[in-house]
Order: sequence, then C-alpha cells, then structure tokens
Amino acid sequence: MTMEILKKRILRDGVAVGTEILKVDSFLNHQVDVTLFELIGAEFRTRFDDVADKVDKILTIEASGIAVAAFTARYFGSVPVVFAKKEQPSTMMDDYYFSEIMSFTKRKMSSIRVDKKFLKEGDRCLIIDDFLAHGQAALGISRIAQQAGAEILGAGMVIEKEFQSGGARLREKGIRVESLAIVEKIEDGVIYFKG
Ligand code: 5GP
Repeated sequence: MTMEILKKRILRDGVAVGTEILKVDSFLNHQVDVTLFELIGAEFRTRFDDVADKVDKILTIEASGIAVAAFTARYFGSVPVVFAKKEQPSTMMDDYYFSEIMSFTKRKMSSIRVDKKFLKEGDRCLIIDDFLAHGQAALGISRIAQQAGAEILGAGMVIEKEFQSGGARLREKGIRVESLAIVEKIEDGVIYFKG
C-alpha cells in the first residue's frame, strides 16, 4: 500500500528524468523534509510492527539512506544505525566486510563496506533505504549481513521502482520488502503508482 502523503509529495515535487530515474531532491536526496521523515519513520514502524521488538540494528548505505534510517531508528527503540561506506578506506588498519555492487544510475561497479566492529553474528537487522531500483544496494547489504552471520528481518524502502525488479529480486532471496510508494512506470514525464 502506498503512503498517501508521500505519493502526493512525489507527484507535487518529483521530477521524472527519462523513463528510469525519479528526482526527489527537494525532500529526500538533497534537501531533507524532517516532518515527512518523521512520518516515514512512523510508517516503517507500523509496517514492521510484528518484528519491532526483535530489531537490534538498522542497516543502510551512505549517503541518502542515513537520514531515513536515523528517523526510522527512533521508532524502533533508537537502535544503532550502521551505514555501509562507499569510498575505499584510507588505511587497512580496520577489518571490514565488503560487497561488490553495480550502480545502474552511475553505470559502474563499486564496493561497499562495513567495519566488523559494527555488525556481529546474531544481530537482527532491518535494511532501510531511500530507493529500491534494481536491488543491488540492498542485496549488497544483505551479503554483508550474511558474512557477519547477522539476520535480515526485512527491507523498508521509501520509493520502490517496481519496473526495475529489485523488489522481486529481494523477495526471491527470502527478504521481506515493505515499500512506502511503489512506482509502476514513468512515461512521458508522468509518474504512475501502484495502489
Ligand atoms: P539499486 O541498487 O536498487 O539499483 O538502486 C538503489 C540506489 O540507487 C538507491 O540507494 C539510490 O541511491 C539510487 N537510486 C536508484 N534509482 C534512483 C532514482 O530514481 N532516483 C534517485 N534519486 N536515486 C536512485
């Protein structure tokens, strides 16, 4: 089910770039609307209420995922938010979990990493991110969780672009996905939602 207030905001302020990309810089990816983020956090709590008391950590990827994850964490007992880093470490002093991911928006492979200090065997985690497109970022995080022996309770996405099949890929891997707005297609500058 689509979160109505989010859908209205996307329709009001979102800009379709071609048929693949949705630009929502004015409230999600560049400027952040904290009032909306509060509502997003509360909505994720409602969606994952059945597992809320099990969540030990929230996992996300820098940069845009961090603010959403932080607001969401407030609704899950202020559990720690751990964000995967994208840039290479300046030293190899620390010990990291790594995963290779393909960015379709940037058309390149990159690696993400999480310091082993911040993810432990048995940690029960929710993945929270701004966009679910091809599912590469979320799958990369879930591979890192797997390396750590951590468990993924589910993935909460603010906007899912269903036509890029990330949701299907995650569900195939047994990951429960809750998306607050599901975009069915983008055509001639018009954004079409599911539900
Ligand atoms: P995926 O790994 O699922 O293909 O893509 C997810 C990541 O790519 C998100 O974390 C987001 O940063 C970025 N992304 C994918 N599609 C879009 C889009 O339409 N708009 C914006 N702003 N970011 C996107």
